[in-house]
Amino acid sequence: MITIGVDDTDSEEGLCTTYLAAVMMDRLADLGEIKGFPKLVRLNPCVQFKTRGNAAIAFSLDTDRVEEAKEVALKTLMELSDFAGPKTNPGLVVAENVPEELTRFYRRALDEVLEVREAEDIIERCGLWFRSFKNRRGLIGALAAMGAEFPDETYELLAYRKPERWGTPREIDEESVWRADELTYPGTWDTVDHHNRKVVFAPHSKDPVLFGIRGEDPEAILSALKNIRSEPFERMVIYRTNQGTDVHINEGEIGGVVENRSYRLRGVVAKEAEAIEGGHLFFPLVSENGGGSISCAAFEPTKNFRDLVRALAPGDVIEVYGAVKKRTLNIEKMEVVALAERTALEAPLCPSCHRRMKSAGRGQGYRCKRCKTMAEGKVEFPLHREIEPGLYEVPPCARRHLSKPLVRMRGRNVHPSR
Ligand code: ATP
Repeated sequence: MITIGVDDTDSEEGLCTTYLAAVMMDRLADLGEIKGFPKLVRLNPCVQFKTRGNAAIAFSLDTDRVEEAKEVALKTLMELSDFAGPKTNPGLVVAENVPEELTRFYRRALDEVLEVREAEDIIERCGLWFRSFKNRRGLIGALAAMGAEFPDETYELLAYRKPERWGTPREIDEESVWRADELTYPGTWDTVDHHNRKVVFAPHSKDPVLFGIRGEDPEAILSALKNIRSEPFERMVIYRTNQGTDVHINEGEIGGVVENRSYRLRGVVAKEAEAIEGGHLFFPLVSENGGGSISCAAFEPTKNFRDLVRALAPGDVIEVYGAVKKRTLNIEKMEVVALAERTALEAPLCPSCHRRMKSAGRGQGYRCKRCKTMAEGKVEFPLHREIEPGLYEVPPCARRHLSKPLVRMRGRNVHPSR
């Protein structure tokens, strides 16, 4: 048995590491048997070297023709990598036994920004076969994917376009996608965005992916697929993945966050959210024990989620989930733990008829004309809050790959965005 890891073969101009791996697996099937589902592994979403979603692939092949398998893998990588891409730095690793330390390396690759040298040290220490190109950064993702173990997991089916269609508009019957969602949600999710009236399971770029269906298990995904009408696809693969699991989220304290990591932070809203040009919202969150403050952001692409952020008030206790970049937490999800009581000063109610009293004239207090009751001044009334306690998330059109959707957090007080 060998395990193959590959990463960093595509560019913004085209191709896709998952497509390359799909072709590679097809070719390797002539030399043995692909064991189980291939892994589609998302790594630290804050890494600036990524093309799109910081994905890497690993899979296992049961074969006794190891040397031939390496040759086929390398040949496929040479053929289907966009070497001209400024950020394309392919890495390919093959191991007969996956060293245990790769699982630790995976955990670190989710959380930290690693150096190529660290990947090369492991390869040398463990005597792994590898090929790397340009600045060799792809070795990091390749190794991390090989070592990835998923305490929680989901699945994604990726359908790939025929090469002659790459770069042309995708032909997908949107009505059939809505129907597939209707029939298979909550077994599948993030196929469409109901609130924003958008099909969100297909990219718009020139890459070979036609669409991706995400779900809890392969059966739910395949029954969604049966309902989708689209241009014919060249091939499809179901991946086992760490997407939708929150595996990137660290428990943290506001005062102790490290840049480029993702956290769940609890704190008190210090001020109402303020908008800047472009519709991005920011508000400060302070820790309950006074140990620090952090700016939290809901950017314009989070669309209707911003209405919830606007409904927050000073004193609300919340927990926010997201990546910290430039001392700002980009909210993926939030839990409203306790709402502060908000009040407004208004004319008092008549103690007899309970209607609102009217001013009796300047400096003369309030009175009820019908009951002739009097009161001195305005009194404080609790204000209705537009938000209630519970978990809220950004809509599917703004979902980060690793974020656990609320549809997977049943049993809690959730308000899934669909
Ligand atoms: P796609 O989603 O289309 O596959 P991508 O967003 O996955 O593209 P890559 O082309 O894989 O982007 O580029 C990400 C690069 O960053 C890879 O070289 C990968 O090895 C590297 N990388 C991944 N995680 C880390 C990390 N934690 N620290 C440093 N480098 C990393």
